[in-house]
Amino acid sequence: MAIGIYIHIPYCLKKCPYCDFYSVSYNESSADEYLAALLKATEHFSDKNLEIDSIYFGGGTPNLFTSKRIGTVIEKIKASFNVLDGCEITLEANPESLTDKEIYAFKNVGVNRLSMGLQSANESELKALNRLHSKSDIQRCIKTAKECGILNISLDLMIGLENQSKESLKNSIDFADSLDIEHISAYMLKIEKGTLFYKNKDKMALPDDDLTAELYSFFAEELAKRGFVGYEISNFAKNSRYSRHNLKYWRCEEYIGIGAAAHGFYRGERYYYKRSIKDFIASPVSYEFDSFGGSEEEYIMLKLRLREGVIFKEFRDKFKKDISNKLLERAEYYKKLGFLEKDYEHISLNKEGFLVSNTIISDLLSYI
Ligand code: SF4
Repeated sequence: MAIGIYIHIPYCLKKCPYCDFYSVSYNESSADEYLAALLKATEHFSDKNLEIDSIYFGGGTPNLFTSKRIGTVIEKIKASFNVLDGCEITLEANPESLTDKEIYAFKNVGVNRLSMGLQSANESELKALNRLHSKSDIQRCIKTAKECGILNISLDLMIGLENQSKESLKNSIDFADSLDIEHISAYMLKIEKGTLFYKNKDKMALPDDDLTAELYSFFAEELAKRGFVGYEISNFAKNSRYSRHNLKYWRCEEYIGIGAAAHGFYRGERYYYKRSIKDFIASPVSYEFDSFGGSEEEYIMLKLRLREGVIFKEFRDKFKKDISNKLLERAEYYKKLGFLEKDYEHISLNKEGFLVSNTIISDLLSYI
């Protein structure tokens, strides 16, 4: 089975007040050293027998790393693995720093999918998030991407923002939909320790859990009206434009992760690189063992995030046994409450179940 490669590019123009992803300020000499380290790490994992059907540059703000460096990494991956025709190559990007010229250049080095942070189409919300882009930056990037042939485009929107209402959320959805894209990811604002929002949280007018759940339901319904299928709790696509990289993750499939703070799941082991660009540059093949991956528990937990849910035949093929009766009985209970679908071949959470997925999944797992 083909696997994926995830490359973490930890550079950002500045730190967003809600973000706890690992990122540092961009500078040329650091980026050159980081590139050299990425190439060494790619060499370390190289295996010409390994089929790759997805390469994902996540961040951070990977477009800051420039098309030239991204192209060099793609070439190295192609020289090191059996990269299949039609491999999905995704670049996460932020519109304020993505020029039209660079969009063409990214396309030329092989990028065929763009994932951009819109977050909101309301100026006041963008300002509160301290984002650097405007709606027109997004419009320009999408227009150029389509002109040069990058048709697989995803936008991120955020739910649970300060003073967010159904009206303001609808305005963001309408704007995203007007751009004729086929994938939208929803991010629930989480106030993470160590962020500026965490310091200021008591002064912020954040929606409570009930309102956030209402906003999420509204979001899912509005997207459904526009033809987007919610294939995962936070991800919606038209025309089956599912994110290949993310599907691998939720289907508990393997991927090689490379870069500071990157995680990977390879040859049965989950591993991670430290959140330190200095350490990665100094020692690109030093990563820490996390756990053995692919357990029954992990598989059920991840698969229940997907609309397709846990398919009994796949479970049987993978674990050489049936799913436990105790768990199925518990699933029946949630079906009666209206949170879950269950028939002779699968169990899956429905829209109502997605809203309380953490509670249901952790409860079901205690019945394994
Ligand atoms: S641009 Fe993205 S990765 Fe960078 S600080 Fe902002 S939210 Fe975090």
